[in-house]
Amino acid sequence: MTNPRQHVPGTDRVLAHPEVSAAAHRLGHQLVKEAVHAAQQRARAGEIAAGEVTAETLASLPDSASSTRPVLNATGVLLHTNLGRAPLSRAAVEALERAAGTTDVELDLSTGKRGRRGAAALAALLAAVPRAEAAHVVNNGAAALALAATALAQGREIVLARGEMVEIGDGFRLPDLLTATGARLREVGTTNRVRLDDYREAIGPDTGFVLKVHPSNFVITGFTSSVPVAALRGIGVPVVVDIGSGLLHPHPVLPQEPDATSTLTDGADLVLASGDKLLGGPQAGLLLGRADIVRRLRRHPLARALRVDKLTLAALEATLRGPRTPTEEALRRDRPTLLRRATRLAEELSAAGVPASAQPSEATVGGGGAPGVTLPSAAVVLPERFAALLRSGDPPVLACVARDRCLLDLAAVAPEDDEVLRRAVLAAA
Ligand SMILES: *Cc1c(COP(=O)(O)O)cnc(C)c1O
Repeated sequence: MTNPRQHVPGTDRVLAHPEVSAAAHRLGHQLVKEAVHAAQQRARAGEIAAGEVTAETLASLPDSASSTRPVLNATGVLLHTNLGRAPLSRAAVEALERAAGTTDVELDLSTGKRGRRGAAALAALLAAVPRAEAAHVVNNGAAALALAATALAQGREIVLARGEMVEIGDGFRLPDLLTATGARLREVGTTNRVRLDDYREAIGPDTGFVLKVHPSNFVITGFTSSVPVAALRGIGVPVVVDIGSGLLHPHPVLPQEPDATSTLTDGADLVLASGDKLLGGPQAGLLLGRADIVRRLRRHPLARALRVDKLTLAALEATLRGPRTPTEEALRRDRPTLLRRATRLAEELSAAGVPASAQPSEATVGGGGAPGVTLPSAAVVLPERFAALLRSGDPPVLACVARDRCLLDLAAVAPEDDEVLRRAVLAAA
């Protein structure tokens, strides 16, 4: 009997193998060396043959030096915060690649002098929302709120309806963020009702601004009243509106969802929104509105701490100028088409022996906006056990489990991914 240890190839020999060396070039030396060590260990333990060390090393290498994995979203929630919210358009992904190296993000190539950082992204934003006199972009919606509160109300009061003191998710409470900036909150109204006079009586010399917040993840119904932006116009202090989702114009599928253009038209002085919700772009916080207010925000020292990187600016510009985003495509899908796709998938799976059927379903926008709105969709129905199997597959597929069944909702799945979905289910079976 031979001792497997004696024949285990040395690290340098495995690393010299052309395919292993190419992988080291792509993934980094350290990561590949760790894979070689693990394979050698398995050979020493007798789990694999000594001659299999190179093959085992190659098989165990990850696809990428980043462990972030693309997953297929079959949850029926279009903007899933745990899945990175909005998927980017092809145009935005290409823009990311181009911006990744050295770029002209803050240089005017025609003069060779320093240029305004992200000028092209800001121009694209203003072209999309001509109602705004000026625009600024920060890291996310929370950063936009923090900047507005700090620059406009530090040591002063923000007047805000009690029913709009919301928690967004993962314990992020908007009132806590606002008070952390050194602003004081002046709540008006009750949980369910607020009147214009409540705002009028609360406003005084100490008021920084009035804030309206879109309750983007819940609805209050029954005996309720709120004050629309248009009624607050001319109230004597700036009116700042956090619309949340980042729609720039009214959307036919989501008529109740506020948008930047209408909110500015109604009289908001400043509109805040996220870039990676219904706008369908990268994580970003958009600030749109009066030129004098935007200038104050941009010049505040905190603005530097909240500024976005070149990748975000590039992806945002491409999102705004480029083709329809995947989020917009998802909003436009109609149930008959989705049901046809689900039926075909279910038939193909059944033919392969998987117990599958198709049925109408209801998708939602998710924490990114449009609370209470359901989007007519369709799903492939599988036994519940498929949910965990699909989640640990390659690529991982995230399904929705409802009433002991695994639903693959197609609302957020592009038609070209049906084949990926079919293969994932067959692999799980
Ligand atoms: C999502 C949301 C935020 C937070 O935005 P992020 O981009 O997640 O930081 C703030 N306000 C409202 C109304 C929102 O819907």
